[in-house]
Amino acid sequence: MLVVYYPKERIHFMDTQRTKIVATIGPASDTADVFGAMVDAGLDVARINFSHGTHASNGAAMAMIRSVARDKEANIAVLADLQGPRVRTVVEKPVQLMDGMIVALLGVGPDDDVHARLTQTEVPAIGLDQPDVVAALAEGHHVFIEDGLKQLRVVDVRGDGIVLAEVMAGGEVANHKGVNLPDTDVPLPALTPKDEEDLAFILTQDVDFIALSFVRTAADVEDLRARIADAITEPTERPRIVVKIERPEAIAHLAQIVQATDAVMVARGDLATETGQEQVTLLQKDIITTALRHMTPVIVATQMLASMEKSPRPTRAEIADVTNAVIDHTDATMLSGESANGNYPVEAVATMHAIIAQTERSPYDDVHELLPTDITTDAVALARSTCRHARSVGAQVIVCTTVDGQLPRALSHFRPMQRIVALASSRRVCQQLALVWGVEAYYDKKALAYDAQQLLARTQHIVGRKNIIVAQ
Ligand code: PGA
Ligand code: MN
Repeated sequence: MLVVYYPKERIHFMDTQRTKIVATIGPASDTADVFGAMVDAGLDVARINFSHGTHASNGAAMAMIRSVARDKEANIAVLADLQGPRVRTVVEKPVQLMDGMIVALLGVGPDDDVHARLTQTEVPAIGLDQPDVVAALAEGHHVFIEDGLKQLRVVDVRGDGIVLAEVMAGGEVANHKGVNLPDTDVPLPALTPKDEEDLAFILTQDVDFIALSFVRTAADVEDLRARIADAITEPTERPRIVVKIERPEAIAHLAQIVQATDAVMVARGDLATETGQEQVTLLQKDIITTALRHMTPVIVATQMLASMEKSPRPTRAEIADVTNAVIDHTDATMLSGESANGNYPVEAVATMHAIIAQTERSPYDDVHELLPTDITTDAVALARSTCRHARSVGAQVIVCTTVDGQLPRALSHFRPMQRIVALASSRRVCQQLALVWGVEAYYDKKALAYDAQQLLARTQHIVGRKNIIVAQ
């Protein structure tokens, strides 16, 4: 290990934002001007939600992201998010639900005559676009529509493919709204036919992460990993997998799922609907703790600054939410509608950045506490000793080279006060490090050939004259 001292320079640790920002790109942010401003405001990872858009529109957005990142020399990751086995409503016109009313639930497949299906019952009917799901409903199961705003409970399974349900919380049900079935063993594959088409397209694109929705078991993750490996032979070129924790089954299998995946998202929108909203903040802490023990990067998602879709300023509660996610030691916080459809996409990123920066400067963000881990690889041992050494000699920057991202991820895990500079010999790996807490990654295909002096010279070129320690 080599340390270079520039003892006259004042030690100034926190000159970068360590917690990363993921922002969903949509109609409000898919132009180079807006996206460029979001990058300037602190965006690290751009999420494309394949629940929306076409291959043409999502492909164009991804090309725009790459071109802006190249122009700005910014290290940006692209995350393609698969819709997964999401059930949606099928109605011809909005259905008014009153508390206590009985409605019929029935499957409407892609080849069915919608009008004929929905007009065959005496009571108002709501179609579900996955017919197999209706067959899995049983008396007492809850059916939540539109983030649980409307709630039904199954009272009778008629046996002719029609299920009767009582309205517990009413309102207007429109077409194509998301449906959650927390009590039902949903008989759908982790990858639906739509997901298979989207995945085939994504694997032809320059994508760093693929997110898998409604994951239930580690086998769902292994299946996706095998498909990625079949399509892309070079391991360092493969997109890494982000598992979205949003089903009760995923909570039950959390440790195995976290071991199988490359990164985790606390998908609080569906998670709150499916597990009960009172639990969601506690589950966020459980999921982050489990992910950190396995050294798996973690994203806290959904409604972090939701009011900023309509307002240039967040609520106090939203500010507290971002602050607390940072203090929970998440790797990244995420914007959804705020950046995809809202009126203030750039302000939302800038606001998130400001809250993160303020929190990281405070004593409440105890980043230097060396988080525990269950992983015992050489990279972890090296990272642990490097972080301790860096602290004891008062270094300001830790630098390393990497082929596969393992060492910088291990350095990040220990949450050192020092900046972490990683020179990655693959562009894909470099971009993937954009999600990892505190890592500033630079693509340099000669990185592995550098001797210690060359590495120091290159690092100084990036960070200036600082006390630099080399992990190798
Ligand atoms: P979604 O996932 O936005 O794709 O639904 C995130 C969540 O459920 O919180
Ligand atoms: Mn979701």
